[in-house]
Amino acid sequence: MSYPTLSPVKTLILISSDKMKKHAIIPIFIPHEGCPNDCVFCNQKKITARTHAEENINIEEIASRYLSTLKDPRPEVIEMAMYGGSFTGIPVEKQNEYLAVAKDYKDKGIIDKIHLSTRPDYINEEILSNLKAYDVDVIELGVQSFDDEVLMLSERGHDSSVVYKSCEMIKNFGFTLGIQLMVGLPGDTAEKSVFSAKETVKIAPQIARIYPTVIIEDTKLLDMYRQGSYSPLSLEEAVETSKKMYNILFDAGINIIRVGLKSSDIINENGEIYGNTFHPAFRQLVEGEIAKEKIEKQLKELCDAASTADISFISNSRSFSNMIGMKGVNKKYFKENYPRCSFSYDKNDALKDYEYKVQITRG
Ligand code: SF4
Repeated sequence: MSYPTLSPVKTLILISSDKMKKHAIIPIFIPHEGCPNDCVFCNQKKITARTHAEENINIEEIASRYLSTLKDPRPEVIEMAMYGGSFTGIPVEKQNEYLAVAKDYKDKGIIDKIHLSTRPDYINEEILSNLKAYDVDVIELGVQSFDDEVLMLSERGHDSSVVYKSCEMIKNFGFTLGIQLMVGLPGDTAEKSVFSAKETVKIAPQIARIYPTVIIEDTKLLDMYRQGSYSPLSLEEAVETSKKMYNILFDAGINIIRVGLKSSDIINENGEIYGNTFHPAFRQLVEGEIAKEKIEKQLKELCDAASTADISFISNSRSFSNMIGMKGVNKKYFKENYPRCSFSYDKNDALKDYEYKVQITRG
């Protein structure tokens, strides 16, 4: 599959779309049983071995628990999402057992979409025909990188040629395609990450995720880190590279549904996290940097660091926190770098998400 994410989360995940209509995800954690691989950054194999997590999971029970937390009005879209191991790598009988429950929920109108994640090399015509028969909507591939050296050093067990073939097949079958990319894997560079984002744009999936590589317990990556053969990115580097990738994907109209991990995504939630690439609000760090960049570009067209002016920065309410930056970091930046200007931060909900306006109000 993908990054070792999405443990059995305890709350229903509600995602707001750009029109503020609610989108609910019922996460079903399918453990490592489908994955004989051992990617260097993933701890699922060890965790599964220790916890016997391969035992049967009861989708109906999980779903009804999540559904009972839903309030009126019903979210516009409810997805049942099977994450965790490599879904299409588990025995087909087991896949079908899970899918039959999901399809039944979909046929009854309880959920609207079936969503799953898997590895690029666990896709073929037969697998896709089966998923089609169960009315699956979205297939996300844990691609991680389009660079063969990065894939090899991360022990992904396949090269990038498989990714192109699988993505094409998924699209030809009419599924919604998602691509997950990672930043800062062994052998990775900012240029390689940007290359991966550009290759993703060529493939044109509908959705994407960007995850910084995080070093967790029970992984080969932690051994490599301790031995000195792997150096993680700094948080700033991870944000900077993710920002470049984000801009490339966003400008291509790809819906970036996730940037960064949450602590509940990490399978061994209580285990230690090493290095500095984990940040619980990683997406806001990235989007705040992008906001700063967009604002400064406009600002420089209106004045320079020596100018004296009253200036208003404007965004809609949803993008306001990005405009301010994490803990007001953007406010501080502009105050320090344009000391003779005074700035106000204003809202205008007529603006689109991630649109920022700069206006001189006096100067
Ligand atoms: S493919 Fe790699 S990341 Fe995904 S579950 Fe298997 S070992 Fe973990």
